[in-house]
This record gives sequence, structure tokens and C-alpha cells, in this order.
Amino acid sequence: TYHSHLELRKSFFDFFQSKKHEIVKSASVIPLENDGSLLFTNAGMNQFKSLILSSTEPRRVANIQKCIRAGGKHNDLDDVGKDLHHQTFFEMMGNWSFNDAFSKEEACKFAWDYLVEVLGIDSERLYVSYFGGIEKLGLPEDRECKEIWKNIGVPSHRILPFVAENFWEMGAAGPCGPCTEIHYDRIGGRDASSLVNIDDSVVEIWNIVFMSNVRDSSGKIYNLGRNHIDTGMGFERLLSVVQNKNSNFDTDVFIPILAKISSLTKKNLKYNGSVSSQEDAVFRLVADHVRASTIAISDGAIPDGTGNGFIVRKMMRRSFLQGNSKLGIDRFGLSDLVPTVISTLVGVKNVYSEVEKSSDKIINIFKEEETQFWKTVDKAKKMFDVGANENKSSTISGRKAFNLFETYGLPLSVTIEMARNLGKEVDEKEFERCQLEAQKLSQKASQFKLPVFAKDFPTHSDKEKYSYSFENGRYAFSKVPTT
Ligand code: ATP
Ligand code: MG
Ligand code: MG
Ligand code: MG
Repeated sequence: TYHSHLELRKSFFDFFQSKKHEIVKSASVIPLENDGSLLFTNAGMNQFKSLILSSTEPRRVANIQKCIRAGGKHNDLDDVGKDLHHQTFFEMMGNWSFNDAFSKEEACKFAWDYLVEVLGIDSERLYVSYFGGIEKLGLPEDRECKEIWKNIGVPSHRILPFVAENFWEMGAAGPCGPCTEIHYDRIGGRDASSLVNIDDSVVEIWNIVFMSNVRDSSGKIYNLGRNHIDTGMGFERLLSVVQNKNSNFDTDVFIPILAKISSLTKKNLKYNGSVSSQEDAVFRLVADHVRASTIAISDGAIPDGTGNGFIVRKMMRRSFLQGNSKLGIDRFGLSDLVPTVISTLVGVKNVYSEVEKSSDKIINIFKEEETQFWKTVDKAKKMFDVGANENKSSTISGRKAFNLFETYGLPLSVTIEMARNLGKEVDEKEFERCQLEAQKLSQKASQFKLPVFAKDFPTHSDKEKYSYSFENGRYAFSKVPTT
């Protein structure tokens, strides 16, 4: 059964409403709690972080959250384009149980029923994982979870123990806990259990986190003292499954964007959906980065030199450059993509009406950023020519390339291209060394700012465990006996 993206959104809300969930609006992609622990909203649970840490009321909630993973703990910026199921901007469907509003068992059952009964997904293509335990951290294997899946009827060979992947954390510090994930085999008719988390043809669609822990700034993990459940499912991934497509980029939220990019290329290049084609990868990158920048700007980000503005600038400049050099899109062509991006989201109630209203503003920001970018590139090119022509050697030093990057923002790939035109090569190893050096310096300058709650943790030995509660506006700690 084909579901348009609007139908899929509705079916999700209908299902969880029928399970007594309250539907909550997506928060901004710019984190509301400006505690320095996040550049962008990276999961549905972000807006509930303080609730997770402080509430005691049972509550069931569901939403579809705008997320950007382009920095910090969950950073997919450098994977986008290379595979068929990671974007920087994606939407996360999620439902929550705060303070035991429903059980672990119900959480798994809801997820299974929604996928198999409501959407009619072939259950034989689904694999589940559970937390296998980390002794060093005092975290036991989640046998209960394994049993739950057995009782639901998942055959043992499709229930898999994972360790690192199945302990979920929002950031370097904060709420965390063991999780269970549902994976989908895009091919089917085979035993894909050895391919989960390994092969691109089996994609993770849903993550159900049993949020019962919190990690402090020193890396130690404690019991939260209450049980919350936090689930997150990739909207575009699920859409690709119900639309029977091989990739997120072949769904109705991406097709119009890729078609528009195609019409902007000089030779009318087509997007073919191949994972190994360099050209298709650039199509995906441009589609994703322009989409992510559009959303970030509509939520108030501005491309600039710091914080999330820097990431937006990076995504925009990357798409200008790669669009121009790899796909032959004219300078300033990509601002024409903004209305197409917006058109793919029109009709999503209460979420993207802001984007529509700020369309002109976003287009202007794209044009301004692109003007600055090409000015910079052209200026840097002149600098490059002066030095390179005088220099008789066949290599351009990495330090020089790095200076062009730092001073003018000239990407390494442009420098390499210019060097090639002169029959020269760039010392990329040296470039990397310079970059590492600079990173170390800047890390020293701006140490990671800790979330407020994590700073308040007492220090104590590994063996001791504390439970943690929020009373009268303060965090209270009490020792939990270790067994
Ligand atoms: P993956 O292992 O595929 O990178 P993840 O384990 O990092 O995913 P979670 O933090 O568990 O992802 O997020 C919950 C869900 O959000 C995932 O199960 C997946 O369906 C979806 N998701 C995560 N990252 C992306 C992304 N970059 N683009 C699209 N969907 C994503
Ligand atoms: Mg990931
Ligand atoms: Mg994963
Ligand atoms: Mg996951």
C-alpha cells in the first residue's frame, strides 16, 4: 500500500492517539535550552530533556520532530550523499512514556503493531536488537527485552544482542539508557541477521530507548530513579519502506528536489539513485544540504562563523561548490531550489507554515551567502595563482592550501582543482596536519560547556551509585545500595 508522506504522518498520529498519547508539536531545530550541549535538535527527546530529568507525572506523548545531525555526538555531516539513508536534516517520529505511563512490553508491542498491523510491513523482513550489557559500566544484559520480543512472536534468530549501538545517549552527558532497535531488510527472502548494522541493505528504522540512566560530566553513569521510554523512528526511512523504495531519496519528499536539481544542471543530468555513482552522491548531498539549510534558516539560524551558523554556512558553501563544479549548476542557481524544498513540506500542519512565510527571506540569505562565497573563492584564486606560478616545484604546500582555507574559506577541493590545472599536486597530508593543529588549538580555547545538571553531580568512586531527583528546583542525590 502506497502512503504519501502526508498519509504516513497522519497514520502515525492516529495510531498513537488511539493508544492515549497526546500529540505534541515539533520543536525548533535550534535547541530551546541553550545549555551548550547541542548545536541542533538531534532527536525527538531533546524538547523533553528537562521533563525526563525532573517530572514525576506519568504522561504519554507522540510527535514528529525536525532534527539536524551535523555536529556533536550525532554527526552525519560527512556521511550524507555516500549512502542512501542518512541525511543531515530528517524527521523523527517518536512516542514517549514518562514515569511509567506504559511499560517496556507495551512500547515494543505498540511499535510492532504499528509497523506490521497498521502499515502492513512484512514481519519476516524485520530484525530486532536488544542491549547485550557492558560489565565495565555495571550495565547488565537486557534479558527482559529479549523475552518481550520472543513473546511478541519474533523468532530467536531475528533477535540480536548489540552492545555499543544499543546503549543510547543524547550527548556527551545527559539522559541515556539501554535500547532496542527494529531493522528492516530492504531485500527480503533471506536470512539477513548477520547483516544488521553492517550492510546498507538492512536499515535501522526504529530505536526504543529505556531511558533509565543519566551520564555525568566525568563519564559516569547513574540510575535516574524513574523509568521513561523514548522512541525514535526515521520518518524518511519508514516512508521509503511503505513506498517500496530502495532509498530515502526516492520518496515523495525528495523526488521533486532531485528533479529540480536535474533541471538546474547545464547538461540536464539525471539522478539515477545509485549508491556507488559519484554524481548521484553529489545530487543527494546538494538536495540534503539545501533542504537542511532552508529549515535551519527558517528556524532562525544565520550562516556565519560560529556555532550552528557555521554548520549552516558549511552546508551551503559545500552545495554551491559541488553543485557548480560537479554538476555544472550555474552560480546562484541553487537559490531556485528553496521554493521546491518548501513545496515538499507544504501541508504539514503546524510545522512548516513558518517556512512558507519566510521563503523570500531564505532565498535572499542564500543569494547573499553565495555572493560572499564566490567573492572569496575568486579572491583566493588570485592569491593562489600569484604564488603557484612563481613556484617551480610540482607540489603546492599543504600549509599554503591551509592558509587559503583559513583566510579565505577556500575549500581544499578547489585548491586541488586549481593545482591540477597547472599540472601540480597539493600536499594533502600536510594540509591535514595543519588542520589538526588548528583544531587542537581551538579545542583548548573553547572547552565543551557542560549541561547545568551534569555540573551539579557529586564526585564519588566507581562502585557507588546514586539516584537522582529534582525537588523544589534543586537536584537531590541519594545513594542506591549496590548489590
Ligand atoms: P544509524 O545507526 O542508522 O546512524 P542511529 O542509531 O544513529 O541511526 P538513532 O539515534 O537511534 O539513530 O535515531 C533514531 C532513528 O532516527 C534511527 O533508527 C533512524 O531511523 C533515524 N535516523 C537516525 N539518523 C538519521 C539520519 N541521519 N537520517 C535519517 N534518519 C536517521
Ligand atoms: Mg547514526
Ligand atoms: Mg544505529
Ligand atoms: Mg539507533
